[in-house]
Amino acid sequence: MVDLPDEPRPTLERWLTGPRFAALPARGAAHTPPLLSFEFFPPKTDALEQQLWSCIRRLEPLAPRFVSVTYGAGGSTRARTHATVTRILTETALVPAAHLTCVGACQAEVDEVARQYWEAGVRHIVALRGDPPPGTAYSPHPDGYPFAVDLVAGLRRVADFEISVAAYPEMHPQAASRVSDLDNLKRKLDAGATRAITNFFFDSGVYLRFLDLCLAAGITAPIVPGIMPVTNLAGLRRMAALSGVTVPDWLGHLFQGLDEDPETRRMVAAMVTAEQVRLLQANGVDEFHFYTLNRPDLAYSIAHILGVRPGTAKRS
Ligand SMILES: Cc1cc2nc3c(=O)[nH]c(=O)nc-3n(C[C@H](O)[C@H](O)[C@H](O)COP(=O)(O)OP(=O)(O)OC[C@H]3O[C@@H](n4cnc5c(N)ncnc54)[C@H](O)[C@@H]3O)c2cc1C
Repeated sequence: MVDLPDEPRPTLERWLTGPRFAALPARGAAHTPPLLSFEFFPPKTDALEQQLWSCIRRLEPLAPRFVSVTYGAGGSTRARTHATVTRILTETALVPAAHLTCVGACQAEVDEVARQYWEAGVRHIVALRGDPPPGTAYSPHPDGYPFAVDLVAGLRRVADFEISVAAYPEMHPQAASRVSDLDNLKRKLDAGATRAITNFFFDSGVYLRFLDLCLAAGITAPIVPGIMPVTNLAGLRRMAALSGVTVPDWLGHLFQGLDEDPETRRMVAAMVTAEQVRLLQANGVDEFHFYTLNRPDLAYSIAHILGVRPGTAKRS
């Protein structure tokens, strides 16, 4: 019998007893590809419009469950969001979901936007409180919907929309406590939302623990993980700081020294995101929402890795 010294542990023993990745899901009949959704933002210029539409066309064959179009901070993109959603509805086989916020509009105006969506054939709204214009603090419009929960209830009165809401695995930065934030999520679902989509996160353990908390709080609706493929760390840090997301040190280290090397950054991003979604998939997660930032390649390749292929994808 070989006598192993206590310290330092030999390499082989360290390898054998160290953490393991969960097994990759088996291929074949038993493997069901996950449901996907993709998020876009409405373009500001003709060039960005072309970029968005080539992104949409590239992702369309993957038959996502829905694609959503954001609503600019402070309600600044109302017309562009509407135009993009309507074009998706009329020119593609995709099911669009329109983001709608409470910011800067009275209830009657928000209701009117929702009614126009319904009349145009849009059946899915992502209902959000919204963020105010940069540099200002949120304060509800005097005649508006104060919070997302109020908007969900208002939309229910307008028409029988499918409604998604936002969830925060690391807690919304303005929430009084984790419990009150969970309670807020539950109230949004109880008011008529059918699913929550999470803010992005990088520590899968944070998301999985959040699912446990949701279940303990009596939430049973799907809490779909929002996946952000990262290629620009500086931009990510800005976004993360605003929405209370932790950027782990390991992510910073992975991108260190790559500021002038976009190609390697993209490969690293693909690896990081693939690892994140495979880990979630191995834990039973079978729905993913991708923040595409109107760039298709990472979302497409990660979808491929997850087993979603043109012609094989399912929508519901
Ligand atoms: C998937 C997703 C998509 C998004 N899309 C957009 C978009 O298109 N446009 C945009 O502008 N922003 C968007 N956001 C950002 C979002 O608008 C912000 O995070 C916003 O600050 C909170 O929106 P919410 O819907 O979560 O708000 P809410 O659910 O209303 O919660 C906001 C905060 O208020 C607290 N709260 C709720 N009710 C009360 C109350 N009665 N009294 C006191 N506090 C209360 C909550 O705990 C939370 O801290 C998105 C976020 C996600 C996760």
